[in-house]
Amino acid sequence: MNGDISRRSFIIAGGVGLTLSGELAAQAKDIKPDENCPFCKIVAGKLSAFKVWEDKHFLAFLDHKPIMPGHTLLIPKEHYPYLFEMPEKRCSEIMSRTRKLSFPIRSAMSSKRIGVLVEGFGVNHCHVHLVPINGSNELTRKGVTGVSDEEFKRVADLITTAIRQNIER
Ligand SMILES: [Zn+2]
Repeated sequence: MNGDISRRSFIIAGGVGLTLSGELAAQAKDIKPDENCPFCKIVAGKLSAFKVWEDKHFLAFLDHKPIMPGHTLLIPKEHYPYLFEMPEKRCSEIMSRTRKLSFPIRSAMSSKRIGVLVEGFGVNHCHVHLVPINGSNELTRKGVTGVSDEEFKRVADLITTAIRQNIER
């Protein structure tokens, strides 16, 4: 009897909650790597990147065309093309990891703030840009060009060191 009541409550909640319906739809999809996707290749180790951090479901690495030095991309390891088509849990997780990474990146790059940008038209695999910034309009800059591998490595080392120091704010 009790089981019936809770099941009915769940159905009612699902019926009125657009987020819940969206989440169930996203989870029902079988997420497979896209063999043409550069970010899936980085996750699989088939394409190199200056990685700065990872856990079970997410990976962070330096953008190869940085807007500002220290410009980092945070991606889900699964090939979700669009942020808001990820299950709600992953969406919350990527935002909490964005927050956690912002502190060591800001510290490593001595920037005032970390600007965040998500649009995803360049690569069709959800990615959050974390960009060290010191003023308005810097997110729309054309970016830094001609960055050498040595410089990328230096910046990646600065950020990984700051992450290891567990800087929270
Ligand atoms: Zn992908």
